[in-house]
Amino acid sequence: MANSRYEYVRQFELPDPVLRNTWIVVRIDGKGFHKFTDIHGYAKPNDSRGLGLMNKAACAVMHEFGDICLAYGQSDEFSFVVTKASNLYSRRSTKIASTFGSLFTSAFVFHWQSFFPDTPLQYPPAFDSRVVCYPTAKNLRDYLSWRQVDCHINNLYNTCFWALVHSGESKKDAEATLCQTLAKDKQELLFSRFQINYNDVESIFKRGSLVLRENKNLVVTHDDVIKETFWIQRPGFLQD
Ligand code: ATP
Ligand code: ATP
Ligand code: MG
Ligand code: MG
Ligand code: MG
Ligand code: MG
Repeated sequence: MANSRYEYVRQFELPDPVLRNTWIVVRIDGKGFHKFTDIHGYAKPNDSRGLGLMNKAACAVMHEFGDICLAYGQSDEFSFVVTKASNLYSRRSTKIASTFGSLFTSAFVFHWQSFFPDTPLQYPPAFDSRVVCYPTAKNLRDYLSWRQVDCHINNLYNTCFWALVHSGESKKDAEATLCQTLAKDKQELLFSRFQINYNDVESIFKRGSLVLRENKNLVVTHDDVIKETFWIQRPGFLQD
């Protein structure tokens, strides 16, 4: 191995291992996707092509890294759950976060054209990436519930907001109309003004997407991870 007088600078690199025996969650999120989706003509509030592309990029990451047991995505974000026992990159935080984020981004660009055949990519998109460890099954379930509740709250708001805007209200007025409304008020508004029953909204929009491994294949579902049923049906997930 090359050994030079400059070699010592490596000692400035700090170790960054994450805690052993915890689930490692890597969450990536699109940088400036408010603008990105605008410029690329995404349908509002939900562009199915965009969600399909996110799911495809997530599958590419899970295909590459077998230690990911589950992934959950909504909007411009995806969370990857790495098993407790994993020794991927010796559990080095920046290695894991940067490689997942980079592969996700390149897969997103690689598959762009098959999801948006009529829309040329206007500039290279970026995703940020962070790593958080969760020590207990309850913490991990609560993490996933947190993201799924976030999906539901945003989707309900955005469904109302865009229904109002598409009906001719200005964005400012739509915002004012929705200000201080509760969830049940929003559902009522959708039904009385737009004949939309929120329960009938597609589950991918309401709940986001899960990528699971079933018989070594990757499957995408839109299950409710907050309910006990999901976990009872898949007892393997939360074991040590
Ligand atoms: P930041 O860089 O801080 O993450 P951001 O603009 O990406 O800024 P987010 O809070 O991540 O802000 O929000 C993502 C935005 O992308 C939302 O405004 C959402 O409406 C839009 N978006 C993401 N996916 C879709 C989709 N499939 N269809 C329509 N809009 C989408
Ligand atoms: P790791 O994932 O651990 O980084 P690696 O295969 O990328 O594994 P590196 O030590 O980073 O290993 O080495 C990069 C390799 O890529 C080298 O073997 C080098 O020969 C090859 N390589 C990189 N750029 C070029 C180039 N422009 N032309 C030819 N070979 C290249
Ligand atoms: Mg963000
Ligand atoms: Mg974003
Ligand atoms: Mg986001
Ligand atoms: Mg290399």
